[in-house]
Amino acid sequence: MTYYSQTMLIAELSSMGITDSNVLNAITQVPRDHFMSAALANRAYENTALPIACEQTISQPFIVALMTQAVMTAKPNKVLEIGTGSGYQAAILSLLVEQVVSIERIKTLYETAKEYLAKQGYDNIICHYGDGFKGYPQGAPYDGILVTAASEKIPDALCQQLAEGGKLIIPVGGYGSQRLLEITREGENFHQKLLDHVIFVPLLPGTSTD
Ligand code: SAH
Repeated sequence: MTYYSQTMLIAELSSMGITDSNVLNAITQVPRDHFMSAALANRAYENTALPIACEQTISQPFIVALMTQAVMTAKPNKVLEIGTGSGYQAAILSLLVEQVVSIERIKTLYETAKEYLAKQGYDNIICHYGDGFKGYPQGAPYDGILVTAASEKIPDALCQQLAEGGKLIIPVGGYGSQRLLEITREGENFHQKLLDHVIFVPLLPGTSTD
């Protein structure tokens, strides 16, 4: 059995078009194996999505890198993440921007990630338990919004919480296949660019006390 190392993963991400050295450095600094169950930790540096608790997944490293690279082109100070999950994507962002706000709808995941991120000293991440479809208007505007679960439509609330020139990175489409879009705000115009075709778990409405 082959175990993949972080060095091999970084080389693979570079060869796949991740050119932002700050993003690659952040991925080098965050131990992905700490954000999953011990039983899966030996697979942490495979370039693949892996299961976490509550039937959710930690995204594929390439997709984390691609979304992060895209949002960083807005030169953001403040980024909103929808779907905290394990907290891995929030940890990567926290090394690159001043402030990360992250929302999770499943209580267990919210509590686990919040506690773990605080314990590890990621002190510029604010976690919230809530419905990410609504964004977090109290903290708006955001220079970047990164949605880590798929939506059938682009949520208007998220567009409205973008700062001028801000970017929303979101997988849009139905079950099993979505288009990963980079949406840039120019006044009341929202320009779309296709980044990739992806498969994310769906963004679910409301909150769950699981
Ligand atoms: N960014 C995560 C990956 C999360 S998978 C990581 O790095 O590990 C998608 C997450 O979105 C799941 O945790 C799921 O519970 C959450 N989610 C789904 N619908 C949501 C909603 N409406 N609001 C907030 N989070 C949501």
